[in-house]
Amino acid sequence: MLPIHPTDTTPLFHSLFEEKKLEVAILRLDQIHCEISGNKFFKLKYNLEEAKKQGKPAVLTFGGAYSNHIYATASAAREAGLASIGIIRGDGMDSNNPTLIHAREQEMRLHFVSREDYRKKNSKAYIDQLLSQFGDVYLIPEGGTNALAIKGTADILQKKHQDYTHICTSIGTGGTFAGLAKSLLTHQNLLGFSSLKGEFMRAEIRNLLHESGITSKGKWEVLSQYHFGGYAKWTDELIDFIHWFWSEFRIPLDPIYTGKMAYAFFDLVRKNHFPESARILLIHTGGLQGNAGFTKRTGIQLPTP
Ligand SMILES: *Cc1c(COP(=O)(O)O)cnc(C)c1O
Repeated sequence: MLPIHPTDTTPLFHSLFEEKKLEVAILRLDQIHCEISGNKFFKLKYNLEEAKKQGKPAVLTFGGAYSNHIYATASAAREAGLASIGIIRGDGMDSNNPTLIHAREQEMRLHFVSREDYRKKNSKAYIDQLLSQFGDVYLIPEGGTNALAIKGTADILQKKHQDYTHICTSIGTGGTFAGLAKSLLTHQNLLGFSSLKGEFMRAEIRNLLHESGITSKGKWEVLSQYHFGGYAKWTDELIDFIHWFWSEFRIPLDPIYTGKMAYAFFDLVRKNHFPESARILLIHTGGLQGNAGFTKRTGIQLPTP
């Protein structure tokens, strides 16, 4: 098992929370490990154990050129003594891309594929082709979500978090949300903020919970209006918010996931979404490795840890 650096919740203080009579804290999963950060740590841990149990020499997975999942898998596989192969959407090695540089440094073998090929990542024929090319590898899907990933993300909430009434997290594939839903207690509410554009996420989460045999004891909802234009899209308002959050709390956020989640949370507070005396826990799912690449692409500085 990967070593875990347990993180306590950090209380957040703000006049707005006082005014609305809310207690707010954040769970800094971004600090759980220096390279295998955030929710990816939980999504990977049982998968890597399983890969070793099956005697596989390597793990193979998929991601975009700035993917948090690729970055984390490269480090986690190496730490577990496994080789790793990354199927990367894109034209080839970009020596200015900090995510890919890191993956290379972890000895991840990078295999670049076109957008068309990348789209086939879940098709049986394409996967068979990859297996014949790369040998007997342990396959982890894009974003890392599978049954063992959900088993892992169900470990995020622990007994010491039982007094929180509301848990807020961001959603990409929903694997983190599903694990949180699984460990939710009857008095708890889970709010997931989709980083993707579209109303489909609620149904997708419902399917994922159903397929995974999860009936949550608590209540859950998916909010789809805080995508800022779609996955990896952003606006000046979002960037300003990330800087504002840093100046208030000295906690860095990323513009793909945690920035959108925290923005949404503040918006809901202002709109009185939370009842008086609610005890709210924000999950900082990590993703900060991506900030360096964001700055390279856009020239926009972001707070970094
Ligand atoms: C991958 C990721 C997510 C999305 O997690 P899912 O389990 O795919 O929903 C959220 N936040 C960060 C920082 C991530 O890297």
